[in-house]
Amino acid sequence: MVELEEAVARILAATPPPSTERVALDAAHGRILTEQVRSPIDLPIFDNSAMDGYAVRAAEVASAGAQTPVRLRLAGRIAAGEAFDGEMPTGACVRLFTGSPLPHGADAVVMQEDTRVQSEAPAEIQILSPVQSGDNVRFRGEDVPAGAVLVEPGERLTAGRIGLLAATGLREAGVGRRPVAGLLATGSELREPGQALRPGQIYESNRLALAALARRAGAVPRVFPLVADSLEVTKGRLQEALSECDVVVSSGGVSVGEMDFIKPALREIGGELEYWKVAIRPGRPFVFGQWRQKLFFGLPGNPISALVTFLLLVRPALRRWQGARNVTLEGHAGLLAEPLANPGERRHFMRVKLDAAQNVFSAGLQASHALRSAGEANGLVDVPPQTVWKTGTTVQVMRWE
Ligand code: AMP
Ligand code: MG
Repeated sequence: MVELEEAVARILAATPPPSTERVALDAAHGRILTEQVRSPIDLPIFDNSAMDGYAVRAAEVASAGAQTPVRLRLAGRIAAGEAFDGEMPTGACVRLFTGSPLPHGADAVVMQEDTRVQSEAPAEIQILSPVQSGDNVRFRGEDVPAGAVLVEPGERLTAGRIGLLAATGLREAGVGRRPVAGLLATGSELREPGQALRPGQIYESNRLALAALARRAGAVPRVFPLVADSLEVTKGRLQEALSECDVVVSSGGVSVGEMDFIKPALREIGGELEYWKVAIRPGRPFVFGQWRQKLFFGLPGNPISALVTFLLLVRPALRRWQGARNVTLEGHAGLLAEPLANPGERRHFMRVKLDAAQNVFSAGLQASHALRSAGEANGLVDVPPQTVWKTGTTVQVMRWE
């Protein structure tokens, strides 16, 4: 038996370092940065007004009050996209709008609400309130000084970070290439959804569910045709998928039954194979292998086992392939709304539903064939062996949806 963490560490050690591609920011949402990004410029780019109002010298309006207005001559107007030529004369002010550059000589902005203009004297602005030097000014570089680190390698490009990079004039970013993840399903009982079923046949569901998870993990899923239980067919399909993809994930055919051909097929096409008993439930049997530079994961066929092993063992490799620093599912604290019990000898990753009020419900029948629980669930809780957690216990929910 290997512990889950040990299995993940071995998988990550076999995962190649990310290769970088330069991607336009408008196509980079969710991608992983492979290089540190520093700001090429100051943000704000120039000192500018935080208000609609008037640029002043604070010292000239120190005595201003509603009854004692200070009268300043209007020396100009700076609309959006304009700048003021030269120095603002003494005894004068300049009309500004939010974001207008502060004219040279000015050191504060009086907001429009604290001023008055008589219609018979439109070029004379009455200042009704004093300001301190720097009031209502957004200073050059106060948000981001030039050279500051904006994003570290391994971090995700969120919408906010895309906006931040664009604001510094950058148009693209170096991100980890997305792995092409091939999805195979083995089993002669399997039919495509939509086809008629003969007795003993069932609909195949793992490839589509895993493709959705792979896409969520940033990979490019490729669904391959169904693989019948035969050594020759399995060999051909494995080789085809491994040649065309970076990572191949199959489900089914990894038990010890005489109809389970994944392991011999991988060996016979020259793959290196590790077969671990990972100490988790659901999750056995599980195969990890390599073929040339490619990674191969042979997951159990039971749909719940396939889902859970994908999340715990495959997803980290897909994330690391792209250069992500955090590769495991993020934990969200929740409170059990009902007990969770694991009477078994292995950690049980139970499907749960975490609601908006942080209540955690069991997603129903926890057997590895019970698909309904996958429909209800949005996360997993790692329940230790021989443990009963009472209602009200705080648990960490590893959310996948
Ligand atoms: P196996 O791991 O091939 O022994 O399959 C274990 C169980 O999961 C059997 O009941 C299979 O019919 C079922 N199963 C295997 N692969 C799939 C699949 N792709 N979609 C739905 N059920 C599957
Ligand atoms: Mg099978």
